[in-house]
Amino acid sequence: MAKVSFLEERCKGCGLCIAFCPKNCLALAGHLNTQGYHPATLVDEGSCISCAICARMCPDVVIEVEKEARR
Ligand code: SF4
Ligand code: SF4
Repeated sequence: MAKVSFLEERCKGCGLCIAFCPKNCLALAGHLNTQGYHPATLVDEGSCISCAICARMCPDVVIEVEKEARR
C-alpha cells in the first residue's frame, strides 16, 4: 500500500503536486495550515502507485513517499 506523508505546515497550497499526480489522488484539504494555506493531502490512497512524482515536483519539499519493501 502506498504511503505519502506531508510536512503540512510547509505547504503553500500551490497545487503543483496535484497537477502532476498521474493518478489524481491528491487534493487541497479543506482546512488551513498555520501559514494560512490549504495544504495538499492524499485523498485516494488506493489509487496511489508510489511513483513519487508529487515529491519531486514540490518546490518546498513537503512530500515524502515511502514504498513497501520490494519483493
Ligand atoms: S506518489 Fe505518485 S500516484 Fe501517489 S500521490 Fe504522489 S504523484 Fe500521485
Ligand atoms: S507542490 Fe508542495 S507546496 Fe505545492 S501544494 Fe503540493 S505539497 Fe504543497
